Amino acid sequence: MKQVDTLIVGFGLAGLAYAETLRQHHQSFHIVDQAKGGSSVIAAGIYNPTVLKRFNLTWKGDEFHTAALPFYKVIEKRLSKQFIYPYPILKLFSQAADHNQWSVASDREDMSNFLDPKINKDVFKGIKSPLGYAIVNQCGRVDTTALIQAYAASISTYITQTSFDYSKMKVSSSHITYKDITAKRVVFCEGYAMVHNPFFNQLPLIGSKGQILIINAPELKLESILKGPIFIAPLGNDKYWAGASFEQEDKSLSITAEGAQWLKDKIERMIDVPYTVEKHITHIRPTVKDRRPLLGTHDQYPNVHLLNGMGSRGVLTAPSAAKWLFNHIKRQENLPKEVDINRFEKIG
Ligand SMILES: Cc1cc2nc3c(=O)[nH]c(=O)nc-3n(C[C@H](O)[C@H](O)[C@H](O)COP(=O)(O)OP(=O)(O)OC[C@H]3O[C@@H](n4cnc5c(N)ncnc54)[C@H](O)[C@@H]3O)c2cc1C
Repeated sequence: MKQVDTLIVGFGLAGLAYAETLRQHHQSFHIVDQAKGGSSVIAAGIYNPTVLKRFNLTWKGDEFHTAALPFYKVIEKRLSKQFIYPYPILKLFSQAADHNQWSVASDREDMSNFLDPKINKDVFKGIKSPLGYAIVNQCGRVDTTALIQAYAASISTYITQTSFDYSKMKVSSSHITYKDITAKRVVFCEGYAMVHNPFFNQLPLIGSKGQILIINAPELKLESILKGPIFIAPLGNDKYWAGASFEQEDKSLSITAEGAQWLKDKIERMIDVPYTVEKHITHIRPTVKDRRPLLGTHDQYPNVHLLNGMGSRGVLTAPSAAKWLFNHIKRQENLPKEVDINRFEKIG
């Protein structure tokens, strides 16, 4: 029998953030992950605390941003690998009326760290920006695929690659057992697959499908992330991540011809150099009805916990959410009420 403090189910950004938080506090863990890849491994990994459509910050954007980068830097240092790629975001304006809104927003105290007030009119080779562009600072991307792969490789003896069989978990008041593992508690981090988790599937995880294209555009030579109707982010070697759609109805993991065409239309509104499509992939963001994470403890089982609902901003949200949950479990601290699953009707 293997004995650990915490059993973690799911190893995307949420599971990784929780494992790293436990590691930093010298707590043991074992992870069960079905190794099929979740939302985290297809994400661009863009970190950007602003909402460029509404010229404001995301909920706790500044706080999450301040916590997230040092969190990933510690992992970079320990694994001697680069995962953080700082890039400015170039916001391409779609209407002249936005110039004024931009100037007003960039002057606000909360936004001035991020929005450069200058409206630029110069022309970048390969980029269509007839109405100019402006720069968002302190942004970039975390290579989430490389991060998850490298982290998993560094703790491979603590990961079992299999689909978690909920019927095999036994919960008692002092511990839980799962096959040959005994743990004081379990933390479920399954992303959108939480809809199959009998302990938590009554919570309003809505999910939002995103299709993306990986394109090759040798003439683009982009050293920033473009934000027009979609994001185009450099991956190196002339490859770019282009996406993503937000689809509410279809919750399948199938790519569609309409999805590809929609993305190509947007790409061609943003760049005017040739490109080829290398990959078309999709996954489902774990989005929640009220757009806040889902954290907490099962109503009937005090050692069964949830870390989910990272939405479309998992890179920035996961480190702080993991810390909140850890402090809730280990130090009996209250969770912020906005993220506590108790904000919804009691489950169980
Ligand atoms: C197209 C797209 C683009 C995105 N772009 C960005 C971006 O640029 N920046 C950003 O911050 N966020 C982005 N996101 C959102 C981000 O991906 C999510 O917020 C975050 O990755 C969710 O992490 P997670 O760990 O909760 O879920 P996931 O990444 O889905 O991980 C869940 C893990 O649990 C495993 N699992 C599930 N059920 C079981 C089971 N029963 N047994 C065993 N294992 C199980 C899965 O295999 C998976 O490995 C994007 C999402 C999409 C879809």
